[in-house]
Amino acid sequence: MKILSVNAGSSSLKFQLLEMPQEEVITSGLIERIGFADSIFTIKVNGDKTRDVKAIKNHSQAVSIVLDALIDLKIVNSYDEISGVGHRVVHGGEKFNDSVLINKQILNEIERLKDLAPLHNPANLTGIRAFHEILPNVSHAAVFDTAFHQTMTKEAYLYPVPYTWYEKYGIRKYGFHGTSHKYVSERAIELLGKGVKGTKIITVHIGNGGSITAIKDGKSIDTSMGFTPLAGIMMGTRSGDIDPSILPFVMEKENWTINDAIKALNKDSGLKGISQKSSDMRDIVKGVEQKDEKCLRTLHLFAKKVCDYIGSYYILLGGCDAIVFTAGIGENSEPARKAIVDRLGSLGIILDEEANKVMGEEKLISTKDSKIKVYVIPTNEEVVIARDTLRLINQCTE
Ligand code: ADP
Repeated sequence: MKILSVNAGSSSLKFQLLEMPQEEVITSGLIERIGFADSIFTIKVNGDKTRDVKAIKNHSQAVSIVLDALIDLKIVNSYDEISGVGHRVVHGGEKFNDSVLINKQILNEIERLKDLAPLHNPANLTGIRAFHEILPNVSHAAVFDTAFHQTMTKEAYLYPVPYTWYEKYGIRKYGFHGTSHKYVSERAIELLGKGVKGTKIITVHIGNGGSITAIKDGKSIDTSMGFTPLAGIMMGTRSGDIDPSILPFVMEKENWTINDAIKALNKDSGLKGISQKSSDMRDIVKGVEQKDEKCLRTLHLFAKKVCDYIGSYYILLGGCDAIVFTAGIGENSEPARKAIVDRLGSLGIILDEEANKVMGEEKLISTKDSKIKVYVIPTNEEVVIARDTLRLINQCTE
């Protein structure tokens, strides 16, 4: 059964066609710069990448181009071969604790939730509508980034602010990257091989954005991102947690509006802000190799912020069976992982320096004597989307 996994951004459309339940990737691709004269369409089939630059007006046209390419490249003979389309949706609020098949009512709910994710949900909706227009008879599923974290209790998700903010406006921690934390924790539970009950896992998703999750018995019990993805650890360009009183102070000094200040925290902080060089960990690591002071302070601040959460989640979980590194930095950066794990000696963790050289592959990177297992597990959000879509289609036809 062929399932299309889709992630629509405001000017981009990422897709992967998978043969399910085998989870084989048949083709994958990306359209960037939708709405520009020089949109870029990339598609990968059997390891060969084709790239085309042309004007793509809107998401509907982008979807037509993707589906036409599937026919032209003889990946499918007709659209009927596509059994389902799974759409990534960033915010599911408190309404969605699992993926759902999309109907009119679900579309309205996602629309309503745009208040909580004004940049992301409207873009996700545009993608859903564009695919639905061309594939009206196919099952479409929405897979929410927040759903996995809906198992958090009030103790984990409430902020100590007036309770009426929660009641009136839904101000609480939602958490993000849920599909990734779910995927890598499920895989870690398989690798630990003692069943899901009683497992205590800390997943460290560190890419350009980053979040850490405490997972007990396979369920998220706390996570570092919050009401928005700005909270938690230090990221590529985002600050993570800071004292909110810094905002009015700097706004007054710089004569800034609140939008200027939030932009500075989202776009000019994190690795970029501290290094004054780059938001990309590869550049920071290069600087560290040359003993550049700015890059050294950036790597160590980053590692400290990650460890603050790991330590706190170790206490929350009452121990830990495994720490899992994933996403761009977690999967690929030997020095970043080392800087983090070197701070965790008091938990009895011992890094296997040779194994830690791994890039983009699943691997145990702690030694046999380490009290906690440390894994690198490449994330695969597309597979989670396809799995959930298949499960919902099967439930529907049962
Ligand atoms: P996003 O959050 O945008 O999905 P990714 O998970 O793709 O991001 O991670 C992108 C980031 O991963 C890059 O900005 C870079 O900092 C980091 N990264 C990727 N490859 C490496 C590498 N080999 N060494 C260090 N960092 C890397």
